[in-house]
Amino acid sequence: MHNQVGSARALDVLQTVFGYPSFRGQQEEIVDHVVRGGDALVLMPTGGGKSLCYQIPALLRDGVGIVVSPLIALMQDQVDALAEVGVRAAFLNSTQTFDEANRIERKMRSGELDLVYVAPERLMTPRCLELLQASRIALFAIDEAHCVSQWGHDFRPEYIKLSVLHERFPSVPRIALTATADHQTRAEIALRLQLTDALQFVSSFDRPNIRYQIVEKDNGRKQLLDFITGEHAGDAGIVYCLSRKKVEETAVFLNEHGINALPYHAGMDYPTRTKHQGRFLREESIVMVATIAFGMGIDKPDVRFVAHLDLPKSIEGYYQETGRAGRDGTPANAWMAYGLQDVVQQRRMIDESEADETFKRVLGVKLDAMLALCETLHCRRMRLLEYFGQPATPCGNCDTCLRPPVSFDATVVVQKLLSAIYRVEQRFGAVHVIDILRGVDSERIKQWRHEQLSTFGIGAERSEAEWRAILRQSIALGLVSVDYDAYNALKLTDEARPVLRGEQKIQLRQYEKPLKQRRISAKPKGYVESDLSMDEQVIFDKLRWWRVETARKHNVPAYVIFHDATMREIAKAKPGSLGDLRGVSGVGEKKLETYGEDIVALIAELM
Ligand code: ADP
Ligand code: ZN
Repeated sequence: MHNQVGSARALDVLQTVFGYPSFRGQQEEIVDHVVRGGDALVLMPTGGGKSLCYQIPALLRDGVGIVVSPLIALMQDQVDALAEVGVRAAFLNSTQTFDEANRIERKMRSGELDLVYVAPERLMTPRCLELLQASRIALFAIDEAHCVSQWGHDFRPEYIKLSVLHERFPSVPRIALTATADHQTRAEIALRLQLTDALQFVSSFDRPNIRYQIVEKDNGRKQLLDFITGEHAGDAGIVYCLSRKKVEETAVFLNEHGINALPYHAGMDYPTRTKHQGRFLREESIVMVATIAFGMGIDKPDVRFVAHLDLPKSIEGYYQETGRAGRDGTPANAWMAYGLQDVVQQRRMIDESEADETFKRVLGVKLDAMLALCETLHCRRMRLLEYFGQPATPCGNCDTCLRPPVSFDATVVVQKLLSAIYRVEQRFGAVHVIDILRGVDSERIKQWRHEQLSTFGIGAERSEAEWRAILRQSIALGLVSVDYDAYNALKLTDEARPVLRGEQKIQLRQYEKPLKQRRISAKPKGYVESDLSMDEQVIFDKLRWWRVETARKHNVPAYVIFHDATMREIAKAKPGSLGDLRGVSGVGEKKLETYGEDIVALIAELM
């Protein structure tokens, strides 16, 4: 039975507290289910609107909602943002003094709080469990629930212990949320958190406003610079690199070229890291250069691009990282440069890792899926969504849709490559094998008398870059492997045999020279650079200045005050009174009360 009254109350909270006119996607069903005491497992892409799924039920149910989150550094901002809309929120973590924690605990016991954010290791302490027992609990929200997965990249051992919640508080509803969508993770969350009976809500994982591009790596850094200056001058963005060293170097390089870049990785001291994260959140156009240590829980809505200078280990990771772009729903870019070295490096990392064989196999399968995405001749988004079990059609907003790659029958070319590797007894690396194919008279060739091989010069018509692309794809397809214990010698795999025998045809992506001008028109179709008229633009600019000031005064990120989208709507509506302002999406009662007068006055001044 649908509870009409419950739904109406939920909608009322959505409108008056959060200022949004309607629920998105499955939010309403989820809220409804949890308000009535049901357990839920929510899979929603980054930016989909997970927070409201537990915030609204916490407000509607008796007692305090406990939000378990591993993201200590972000708790302050989350609590500040809630205070801005008039929700009584607090957090408990190791950054607090004893007195502060005591004060929060007292408020929890006496029912003066709506939401409390707690780090998982804190939650499991006897003191905290006792506190929970003594308080009235509305619900448990387990955010970033994929941290429970031992196969995943964000594994946190403390998460496994969270099953205690179910045992200790069987009647309190639990809602687990994640943006990681694959079946394995989902099953693991359900199992480990004892949520096998919970209702599962799986949203569409499509992020239509993100444009996916994967380019052939030539000089990665230079390509990155061209990409940023060409398409994202002055925008906030994130650049992911594999190593700490590369993070540092890339940040320096970007700064030298006039880009406001900051480094972030786990090797930096905590204060600096926090400072950089704070600046990224608060300032408008910082480019964060980071390892994957950065980003979980970052809900800055106006990140305009996410760039990868190295190949991610899995599609899950890639999708989560790129998902940090464009959470406000307006156009954003996910850009990656990818080359032969990436394939070799990632395969080696798996090979050399300490993990057991099963784990290595899982890593290998994940990497293969990632490589297939890079090499695909079809729509990238289709590949991504199909990976998450969601059928899709060509999207029209990825590089392969916009400029379909040319494929060619590469059977003979690949046979040449495989023979060349075979003729040198699988004892030489990429550079040497490619030299042989191209008939280059290098010292090394002479030294080994390889100019006498039948394969010498049989591929002279192709450039070195083309051969590297062919080799890369052959490695990605599993025809060739690299022996890291033997100077990176190229080896043939069992899969190479049918190709050499001519029993299997191979289709490859035609190599395209990376060109600066090759950039595809920056803005997706249907995107209007500015949908504001001249005078509306003036109001909008004025509002932005006002927001900068106000954010500084309140010491919160600008978007906590109002999103760009809300300010754009205000500029269009030109409210003459508080009543006019009330209808604008993103303006709830508390914000109306706090900022309404200011805004109406500011607009009156300009009219
Ligand atoms: P997630 O946690 O799933 O990544 P958030 O909960 O941070 O996403 O929500 C993403 C953005 O969408 C936030 O800025 C939020 O205010 C906004 N949002 C969420 N639900 C709605 C809604 N029903 N209407 C308008 N905006 C919404
Ligand atoms: Zn596409």
